[in-house]
Amino acid sequence: MKKDILIVGTGLGGLASGLRLATQGYNVIFVEKAATPGGRLNRLEKDGFRFDTGPSFFSMPYEFEELMNDCGLPMPFDFIELDPLYTVHFRDSDKKFYLYKDLDKLSEQFENIEPNFKEKLNLYLKKSAELYNDTVNVVIKQNFDNIFDYLKALMQVNPKHLPVLFKNFWQQVGNYFDSKEARQIISLVAFFLGRTPFDTNAIYTLLSHIEFRHSGYYNVKGGMYTIVESLINLLRNYNVEFNFNTEIVDYESDSDKLEYLIDQNGKKWHADIYLINADAAFFRGKVFKREKYNDNHLNKMSWTMGYLTFYLGINTKLPQIEHHNYFIGSNYQQYSKNVMTDPGTLEKPYYYVNVISKNNPECAPDGCEALFFVCPVPNLLYKSNWQDKDQIIESIIVDFSKRISQDISSNIVVKEAFTPIDWRDKFNLYQGAGLGLSHKMDQIGAFRPANFDEIFKNTFYVGSSTLPGAGLPMVVISSKLATERIFNYNKNK
Ligand SMILES: Cc1cc2nc3c(=O)[nH]c(=O)nc-3n(C[C@H](O)[C@H](O)[C@H](O)COP(=O)(O)OP(=O)(O)OC[C@H]3O[C@@H](n4cnc5c(N)ncnc54)[C@H](O)[C@@H]3O)c2cc1C
Repeated sequence: MKKDILIVGTGLGGLASGLRLATQGYNVIFVEKAATPGGRLNRLEKDGFRFDTGPSFFSMPYEFEELMNDCGLPMPFDFIELDPLYTVHFRDSDKKFYLYKDLDKLSEQFENIEPNFKEKLNLYLKKSAELYNDTVNVVIKQNFDNIFDYLKALMQVNPKHLPVLFKNFWQQVGNYFDSKEARQIISLVAFFLGRTPFDTNAIYTLLSHIEFRHSGYYNVKGGMYTIVESLINLLRNYNVEFNFNTEIVDYESDSDKLEYLIDQNGKKWHADIYLINADAAFFRGKVFKREKYNDNHLNKMSWTMGYLTFYLGINTKLPQIEHHNYFIGSNYQQYSKNVMTDPGTLEKPYYYVNVISKNNPECAPDGCEALFFVCPVPNLLYKSNWQDKDQIIESIIVDFSKRISQDISSNIVVKEAFTPIDWRDKFNLYQGAGLGLSHKMDQIGAFRPANFDEIFKNTFYVGSSTLPGAGLPMVVISSKLATERIFNYNKNK
């Protein structure tokens, strides 16, 4: 008989898992707190402008290919490879760096800045490649039943990498490069993990291999939300049921199996199996009321930073910038050390600007651009009051206008913003932390909240705060790991 599975959340983790399960004959039902699917991978539309609200590019596209292969389906969307990957603008400098994948073109820009840049980069990337190749299958793409299993897996990693574990990202980059420009540009990717190069372990320099060599970064034709739309279309072919505006707030069970999840209106949802795509730590605390995940404990865990995101529709073109642009300041070390906790960093913020209309003209009316700004900010543990949101946004618009030599303030026709409070309230992101739990060494692998429940044998977890971690490709891997557990559970019952 077909098994009913209830998936709580329609983030990428939930949707990818739903497809894996539906194509294996499960009867899939989704409940979702928000009014639309996608979670953080979402879309905002207003007055002819269309913005992706969260993720704007991704690495490891082959994880999506593996997902579709596993489901026996063709790829439902087209990738666009980014080259340059992005640009980096330094404050008080006219020089703009293009992060080309072609290392000769990249190196030319460092000619008078970092002697022998290309040789140094090759050496650095060789080590990053070794770290990637020696860990990806052993540590990232594996389930662990317990800490012993995890330690066993770690012991398979070549011991020559051991010294790396005692350094941070910035120190590792500093072993290869001397100039501030090279160090800052190469270590910028650490921010993509939701913390900074100074508190991200050097093992994650493997990201540089992914960035420059292994696959680079990609967009999706039509914008990132096409991923969600195409997964939903496929799921509808399998008669999957979607229930939006439905938040799970409670449960019922007096055995080692979950009997019901209960929504905000008191409706009880029953299934054979439950898969939780909501944050794996927060859900255990808030809905299952587990002591280990009460607010006191959650606040002691390491969370990623928050994001202030805002979306501008402007009635002019910006030929001087690219699709993906980073604007950084002149105090990188001090900024990085403070950005997680000190609201003072917002006086001279660093930010990323995405111009989706560059490659997707349908996202803005003729002659216009759709801009999406992401500014890293302290999460709500360190800045809970956002009454100064408009001032901060205004200061970024002024700074941006100055740095691109074009005042856009009178061209703004659409303006929307999400603070960490909005991110928390929209998708239940604990303390508004944009990427969920951080990837500190004691919060990865078997130390991360597990993808199976400690008490309910029929309950599993998928998404950023369980295995293996945050970011779109990791969440797709998470769907493979979680559904592997579900298939085994069913087989062994
Ligand atoms: C501003 C921003 C920029 C980012 N940029 C990138 C990027 O460029 N590239 C990249 O790879 N990654 C990026 N990320 C990270 C990426 O968005 C996430 O890692 C990924 O989308 C998380 O997917 P998920 O399925 O784990 O969770 P989510 O997308 O959070 O989905 C979980 C879903 O569960 C729902 N839910 C929660 N609680 C309940 C409940 N109790 N009942 C019912 N439903 C519930 C939520 O509403 C949500 O829809 C970015 C994130 C942010 C915030």
